[in-house]
Amino acid sequence: MAGKHTLTIIKPDAFGAAKAGNIIALLEARGFRVRAARVMHLTKQQAGEFYAVHRERPFYGELVDFMTSGACMPMVLEKPNAVVALRDAIGATDPAEAAAGTVRKLYAESKGRNAIHASDSDDNAGREARFFFAETDLIY
Ligand code: GDP
Repeated sequence: MAGKHTLTIIKPDAFGAAKAGNIIALLEARGFRVRAARVMHLTKQQAGEFYAVHRERPFYGELVDFMTSGACMPMVLEKPNAVVALRDAIGATDPAEAAAGTVRKLYAESKGRNAIHASDSDDNAGREARFFFAETDLIY
C-alpha cells in the first residue's frame, strides 16, 4: 500500500519571497498535515548530494546554485497516498504546464525556479526524509 508520508522542500525562490505560509496553507487545505519541518540554508555539498540523481543533466550546476541561493524549508507531510497526492498538488515541473490551483502554477517562476520539491516515490520519500531529519523527528 502507498505510504502516508512524503518529503517536500519549499525552495529558496518561494521561501525568500515569503510564500511559505501561503504554500503550507494550500497544502493543509488539500488535507496534508505537517509532521516535521525545518528552515535551513543548504551547502553546495548537501544540494549536490540531494540531487545526485541529476548529476549528468545539463542543468545540474544551475540547480545546485539555485538550491543554495537562500534558505529553504524541508518538511515531512502526511496524507493517505501522500507521494501521489503531493505530486498532484504541486503540478508539473514547468509552471507553464502546471494545472490551475497547483503550487507551481501559483508560485513558480520557471522550470528551474519552481517553488517546491516533492518526492517521486515512497522509497525516495523515506530516503529524502532521512536526509533532512533525524530518526527521532520521524516518529509520528
Ligand atoms: P520535479 O520532480 O518535478 O522537481 O522535476 P525533475 O526531477 O525533473 O527535476 C528536478 C528539479 O531540477 C526541478 O524541480 C527543477 O528545479 C530542476 N530542473 C528540471 N529541469 C530543469 C531545466 O531544464 N533547467 C533548470 N535550470 N532546472 C531544471
